[in-house]
Amino acid sequence: MHADTEVLVIGAGPAGAAAAAELAGAGVDVILADRHTFPRDKICGDALIPDSAQALTELGLSARIAALAAPAEGLELHAPAGDGVYLPVPVACLPRRRLDAELVAQACERGARLRVPWQFTRLLHEHGEICGAEFRPGAGTAAASGDAELEIRARWLLLATGANAAALSAAGTCTRKQPSAIAARAYFRLAPGRRCERLYMLMEPKLQPGYGWIFPCPGGTVNVGWIYFYDNPRLPAEQNVRRLFERFCRTSAIARHMLDGAAMLDDVQGAPLRCGLTGATLGSERLLVLGEAAGTTYSFSGEGIGKALESGGLAARSVLAARRCGRPASAGANYAQQMEARYRARYLAYKRAQTWLARAPIANLIARRARPGGYISHTLQAVLEERAGPDALLSLRGMLQALVRH
Ligand SMILES: Cc1cc2nc3c(=O)[nH]c(=O)nc-3n(C[C@H](O)[C@H](O)[C@H](O)COP(=O)(O)OP(=O)(O)OC[C@H]3O[C@@H](n4cnc5c(N)ncnc54)[C@H](O)[C@@H]3O)c2cc1C
Repeated sequence: MHADTEVLVIGAGPAGAAAAAELAGAGVDVILADRHTFPRDKICGDALIPDSAQALTELGLSARIAALAAPAEGLELHAPAGDGVYLPVPVACLPRRRLDAELVAQACERGARLRVPWQFTRLLHEHGEICGAEFRPGAGTAAASGDAELEIRARWLLLATGANAAALSAAGTCTRKQPSAIAARAYFRLAPGRRCERLYMLMEPKLQPGYGWIFPCPGGTVNVGWIYFYDNPRLPAEQNVRRLFERFCRTSAIARHMLDGAAMLDDVQGAPLRCGLTGATLGSERLLVLGEAAGTTYSFSGEGIGKALESGGLAARSVLAARRCGRPASAGANYAQQMEARYRARYLAYKRAQTWLARAPIANLIARRARPGGYISHTLQAVLEERAGPDALLSLRGMLQALVRH
């Protein structure tokens, strides 16, 4: 088979860029294509929680990202009734415009060839096998580049197109079109004298289920947002996520205090999320689906940068293994099997935890009984650091423990 490259990675967010960096670093010829030029914005909360920090360390990027990010002293969670739990876990925030540009730069430094703005439109087949992909010029470039379609042939295809269901459908790997959640965010510059040093996750009583956030970003700015999940037993009465965002900013006491005198820096922007390791076929033969395209974002929290990076690494290593053993078509099944073995139980636990937390009395009970250094705080911290699953607390057994041991 004629190939323009060995591996074609489609989508240069954290999942695709991490896979491209690892493959290029191992001496593989890689094209990394995206429909946007970089740096580009990505609607996100920008929080780098412990799994992201660990994945960035493994990629050799932690010092580079730490130099750019705003560090935070921990995470403060508030239940709808107002009680809060503080978790002193080191976390940081970096707007995705910067983070993703660094990830892409690292992949290119290791030898990946970046091709932007290329929008993936369909797969190419030869003798019944996937052999590449077709692109058209991405946003804002049609006039300059003409409408020419572009074909790239490759031995392996890694699809890392995030929550864009159209790209998944075009690749024939979509098993669920509708997203799992919707979220909206905006940046603000805090008024002089105001500081945000923690990540706040705030459940407002009248807007349940869902939560709002205020995350500190570099240069005295904050990322503020609201999220709710579609696959809860109950949906919020108001389902317009921008209106929910506005109501959160107006009604949350912490948001009102923090944003008093703040300047809004951009429009409120919304985006879907695909969660729970669902919604796509993970891998078949030479096609691997990674990151949020494969639903790697967590239900319950909506955090997904760390797991996107991890899935990129796993996909890259599956390709390397298939390449070494001379059985190229084994990559997809190997990757899917490893993703299932490593993550399925964890994602199911996050999904169940989301259902528990959608009940305000349960969130209130946990927050009311939590005390610094106590059982509940310790358990929540272990969940955040992935030393325990969320069912350590958000399950029948976990709740009984919380009642007797708080
Ligand atoms: C509002 C919001 C807040 C969030 N907050 C957080 C948070 O604070 N912390 C956290 O860890 N996670 C958060 N997440 C989740 C996080 O954004 C995702 O888990 C993460 O971006 C997934 O990375 P990815 O590489 O899989 O996909 P993406 O980051 O979405 O990257 C996909 C890439 O594919 C490209 N692409 C898409 N379609 C095509 C196409 N047809 N052709 C070519 N290229 C294409 C896109 O341009 C993009 O660059 C949040 C999500 C949302 C929506």
